Amino acid sequence: MVTSSYTDTRLLINGEWCDALSGKTIDVINPATGKAIGKVAHAGIADLDRALAAAQRGFETWRKVPAHERAATMRKAAALFRERADDVARLMTMEQGKPFAESRIEVLSAADIIEWFADEGRRVYGRIVPPRNLAVQQTVQKEPIGPVAAFTPWNFPVNQVVRKLSAALASGCSFLVKAPEETPASPAALLKAFVDAGVPAGVVGLVFGDPAEISGYLIPHPVIRKVTFTGSTPVGKQLAALAGAHMKRATMELGGHAPVIVAEDADVALAVKAAGGAKFRNAGQVCISPTRFLVHNSIREQFVRELVKHAENLKLGDGLAEGTNLGPLANARRLTAMSKVLEDARATGAKVETGGERVGTEGNFFAPTVLSNVSLEADVFNNEPFGPVAAVRGVDSLEEAIAEANRLPFGLAGYAFTKSFKNVHLLSQQLEVGMLWINQPATPWPEMPFGGVKDSGYGSEGGPEAMEGYLVTKSVTVAAV
Ligand code: NAD
Repeated sequence: MVTSSYTDTRLLINGEWCDALSGKTIDVINPATGKAIGKVAHAGIADLDRALAAAQRGFETWRKVPAHERAATMRKAAALFRERADDVARLMTMEQGKPFAESRIEVLSAADIIEWFADEGRRVYGRIVPPRNLAVQQTVQKEPIGPVAAFTPWNFPVNQVVRKLSAALASGCSFLVKAPEETPASPAALLKAFVDAGVPAGVVGLVFGDPAEISGYLIPHPVIRKVTFTGSTPVGKQLAALAGAHMKRATMELGGHAPVIVAEDADVALAVKAAGGAKFRNAGQVCISPTRFLVHNSIREQFVRELVKHAENLKLGDGLAEGTNLGPLANARRLTAMSKVLEDARATGAKVETGGERVGTEGNFFAPTVLSNVSLEADVFNNEPFGPVAAVRGVDSLEEAIAEANRLPFGLAGYAFTKSFKNVHLLSQQLEVGMLWINQPATPWPEMPFGGVKDSGYGSEGGPEAMEGYLVTKSVTVAAV
């Protein structure tokens, strides 16, 4: 067992770590034990006012720092964060539950993301456009949009912050994040790396508190010019509406319900390893988690058998214990949600091939679950389960699978397994998703766009498209006199 002590988390305002002015705190619970392990400061409006004023000053400073220097500071933050990977990963596992190895990968990949965006910030080019009058010069310039308000969830406490933070800072924006109250210490460690690397006061800020109160105050506030949110579709729609009412640019990374199409000619072992493995990562609490397994009927039984074997080989336990590769659910709400999903699946005719219930009475452990014969009406086939449940349904053709994949209002990730070029062509043309992985697990590298279509939101958290979300365009036309 890896041991560690947990640290309390304070607010970061104007470059200083501080308690809320009211002194209020919230307990942080270890999902593996159900016990309180620390506290996080709970900001009120007066704290937000201080954070907003700092973000405005931070923006005025940071936008004037040359992109080259911004990149150097960001690279320093990445190096510090990488050096601290083991300590941060321990904090993350204690507050979120995921296995230590997964936490460590999340921290190391965050350093990679920071470095990629640091470099991308040096390549924010404008254009010179041929003028209609040769005495005139027409240029297109890119500028940072302004102070950013970010809202991030508890499933990837560091990754959800770092994508937004890196794109914002590389673009020259200041960044104020309401990170998750349930998993506060690891995102605080991320921001600490930036403070220690020397970002000026106010360029990065961190608050926690009542999510609705904070978003309701920050989004309409005149200091904030851009809103970025990751979380559920219903909350995303509310925040996007509020942003729209106040004419704020928004990026929305919302829920998904990823189809996994396993065609007649698929490599079944690869499909089980790639999509089955991904299904149980972070206990299924992943927006791009494979969810609806649409398997050709000729190989369905074999696929289910092998997926069950994969699930039963997983070692469920405390994420800090040696050998654990499936941790507890991150909070008690997910445990309740999983019981409801299973109750509904049974009532609508699904067969529970393995798992299907809570394990033990301490902590939020839920057995890795495989369902077969899942009805199209089942809740798990319509709403994001956000848990360790794979739902399998047989299909007779690729066309049937594509129609089912596109039936839901979500369009985030999609997966497919096939050896046929014709199938690949059809899938790439017809699947309504923002990201498609064929014959492999998800590889959401920072250089590739990351985002959804339909009810899964808009905007991107990867690639040059992510930078666009933090930039405004100014066209400047100058006549020589
Ligand atoms: P939730 O929908 O209330 O919260 C989801 C996230 O949004 C949390 O981080 C929460 O703090 C934040 N949030 C909620 N209301 C907010 C508001 N008014 N303003 C700003 N932030 C707000 O409930 P939950 O129980 O935490 O999660 C439920 C569902 O959310 C999950 O089942 C899943 O579908 C979805 N979710 C998606 C992601 C993702 O990566 N896309 C992450 C976490 C949760």
